[in-house]
Amino acid sequence: MTFQSLALRPRLLDAVSEMGYTSPTPIQREAIPHVLDGRDVVGCAQTGTGKTAAFVLPTLQLIKPGSGLKALVVTPTRELAQQIGDVAREVSRFSRHRVAEIYGGVGYEPQLKKLRRGVDMVIATPGRLLDIHARGEIDLSEVEVLVLDEADRMLDMGFWPDVRRILHLLPERRQNLLFSATMSSSVLSVVRQTLTDPIHIETSPATTTVDGVKQMVYPVSAQQKSELLVALLEKDHLDRVLVFTRTKHRADRVHRQLSRQGISSASIHGGRSQAQRQQALDSFKAGRTRVLVATDVVARGIDVDEISHVINYDMPNSPEDYVHRIGRTARAGSEGSAISFLAAEETTTLHDIERKLGLRIDCIDHEGFKYASDRIIPVAGRDISTRPRAMFAGGVMRGRARTGRGRSGRGSMGARR
Ligand code: AMP
Repeated sequence: MTFQSLALRPRLLDAVSEMGYTSPTPIQREAIPHVLDGRDVVGCAQTGTGKTAAFVLPTLQLIKPGSGLKALVVTPTRELAQQIGDVAREVSRFSRHRVAEIYGGVGYEPQLKKLRRGVDMVIATPGRLLDIHARGEIDLSEVEVLVLDEADRMLDMGFWPDVRRILHLLPERRQNLLFSATMSSSVLSVVRQTLTDPIHIETSPATTTVDGVKQMVYPVSAQQKSELLVALLEKDHLDRVLVFTRTKHRADRVHRQLSRQGISSASIHGGRSQAQRQQALDSFKAGRTRVLVATDVVARGIDVDEISHVINYDMPNSPEDYVHRIGRTARAGSEGSAISFLAAEETTTLHDIERKLGLRIDCIDHEGFKYASDRIIPVAGRDISTRPRAMFAGGVMRGRARTGRGRSGRGSMGARR
């Protein structure tokens, strides 16, 4: 299957090949023809599946450049707005559309300037979009295509009242595309209220996201987590590592601890300014920072290729967050590893994750690490293996964790749907 067979115009095909995409991902294959047909589409897809191009390409094909604001993308975070903006801008270099991002946390003036010059597509977070509308600086009355990106996240973050206000500002007759990593009952209810006779597309997203990821659990007491992290980083020469903590304070603390050990790191979370987050991301992308310590709030915005390891310093709150975190590695078909530090009090979360994902994650002890004698092994009845050295080759795990009984840590979320 090629992009040519999806009926995309030559300029968009040029953009696709410039971006280095050779064949469409499943969500692109499924969604693009329906969007071009003018249908409302619901896509159950996560970041990492190529969903951005799945809506950006056909939407831009549908709207004529230079004819005013015809496409609106609403997304929960500024990082996502920027990422979508990057893709849209790349495509626009060929299609000649004018694209603007609108998000909070930065000054209004540059965004207003762009809007005043005229735009065809706007990618916005809800709050700032409403602010700018209230100032009379944006006309939404001619929007023909609306994309609601990460609808589940917008609901979780309490943005829905704002989104509803935005919907009232749009023409009733329009094409709606909605993407969501999960299809909870609240998302489905939004779909019913907002979309007209939509096509539902589900491309078993997590097979893309979780499949290439080797997953392991390292039982360790809460007190020894930072020591274990340093030991892993020092001994195994892990290169581009993303560490997740439960809170922003813990993220900053881990970052400071690593710095003290001479390990280059940065932290990124909701408590840092936009400029600080961008700087940390850029430095990590460029390879100047080895370890990026993050919280769940910013997880979805981290679109960095070649992350070799995701380390859950703290277990995430939900299986969905787990999938989002570990989906930051093994992107676009490469291999990656996800290591979860598991303190006794975090066992329930592990069980939830395993149940939802339909798999059992191997338990590993780091060879040579001095575990405290009073460590509680929270996973009763499960063998713990010492990870064979050969598994770490060039920083990326190649082999498979061996345990006596546990099944492989690989798995897909397909089983949970
Ligand atoms: P997304 O799910 O939109 O965040 O995309 C995840 C990653 O996949 C991004 O780094 C994209 O550049 C990349 N990508 C999207 N579509 C394709 C494709 N057809 N072929 C290869 N890479 C792609």
